[in-house]
Amino acid sequence: MLSPDALMQLALEQAHAAAALGEVPVGAVVMAPDGRIVGQGYNRNRTDADPSAHAEMLALRQAARTLNNHRLDGCTLAVTLEPCAMCAGAMLHARIGHLVIGAADPKTGAAGSVLDLFGQTQLNHHTQVSHGVQAEACGQLLQNFFAQRRQHHKETARMNHPLRDDALRTPDAAFANLPGYPWQPHYISDLPALNGLRLHYLDEGPQAAPRTWLCIHGNPAWSYLYRKMIPVFLAAGDRVVAPDLIGFGKSDKPKKDSAHSFTWHRQVLLEFVERLDLQDLRLVVQDWGGLLGLTLPMAAPQRYSALLVMNTALGTGDVPLSVGFLGWRQFVADNPGYEVGKLFGRGNPQMSAAECAAYNAPYPDAGHRAALRAFPPMVPEHLDSDGAAISREARNFWQQQWAGQTLIAIGAQDPVLGPPVMKGLARLIKGCPEPMVLEAAGHFVQEHGEPIAQAAVQRL
Ligand SMILES: [Zn+2]
Repeated sequence: MLSPDALMQLALEQAHAAAALGEVPVGAVVMAPDGRIVGQGYNRNRTDADPSAHAEMLALRQAARTLNNHRLDGCTLAVTLEPCAMCAGAMLHARIGHLVIGAADPKTGAAGSVLDLFGQTQLNHHTQVSHGVQAEACGQLLQNFFAQRRQHHKETARMNHPLRDDALRTPDAAFANLPGYPWQPHYISDLPALNGLRLHYLDEGPQAAPRTWLCIHGNPAWSYLYRKMIPVFLAAGDRVVAPDLIGFGKSDKPKKDSAHSFTWHRQVLLEFVERLDLQDLRLVVQDWGGLLGLTLPMAAPQRYSALLVMNTALGTGDVPLSVGFLGWRQFVADNPGYEVGKLFGRGNPQMSAAECAAYNAPYPDAGHRAALRAFPPMVPEHLDSDGAAISREARNFWQQQWAGQTLIAIGAQDPVLGPPVMKGLARLIKGCPEPMVLEAAGHFVQEHGEPIAQAAVQRL
């Protein structure tokens, strides 16, 4: 004859088998009066799509079959979790002599926790009940199971990137069939700074490529801006990573303009580079891609080997903002709904209507445009503006510590960040050779990016 403890040990083994199937881990065994184990079972509700497939029911059925008798007079049933009303009822019908219970079930237990069928003298004259046999081991098994299941649900939710209440997400359909942009989306939402917002990025080429081009766009562009340069990098056997800043492209868009700040966007990019563990980086920046991106390498200089800069600046707050930039800032303030595609088309007559429209794609309505409104006023203007101090630190880094190769490419037709600004920036960067000037290119230099990418592949 097995002791209650030894019986419970067998029931626990059954419970483990349930857990292995992804079932709630409850196990049961039935011992005949002569000491033989005549039935055993574990939860199979999901597996068998059967609401009655509780461990005890299966053990009772097997025992009845083994003994060829629907009465199990004098048998002992051990179960790792207090039985429910269904199982308790079945045990009463079977006239189980002794019920040995592991953990109590405060939610559905019918042996005293919620109700006590075995204490109903009208129903039961047969069953002796022992509680709490190896209760800790039985309960622990259940707790582990539910903890794992919660963790699994959390991970699934993370993979699905649920949309935050305070953000918008441009429908995928808006991005269907964009010309020259065949690449698969990648998403990340579990960087601490993202706090659940979904950031989109391109990640093309071999993970182990000797060079990775990290291409950062500005306002009001998105990774689409790099579509003429990316194929050149890929043809060289390199990897390209191109994020859409939050508020732009396929990334989530906070509803409030005030969600955006220099420091926050920089933090997102820093965490992004660390999470992807990007190495041998060629940093490619333009516009806000440079305002933010030029402050990144000093935080992890070992990751960055080269720099490709197109029309941009450092927002150090100790140099007055240019008249051209002030004009742009005023234009956006006066025309918050300006058409982004038109802005691109105006400076780039070579672009097709469909290419221009691709720059409108992320912004189906004014609600999606918070970043477009927020970014121009965010350019650090004063010594104490958000981002100004870190930009001055970055300036020191480029002047004194930068040891990588640099290529500067200037769009000559840019009234805001054209040759005068860029030649100034070139003088700041240690070891920077004479810039490459593209006479036909405007502010969005990447729209003339093929020869720039070719030069970069050769030199960087
Ligand atoms: Zn049950």
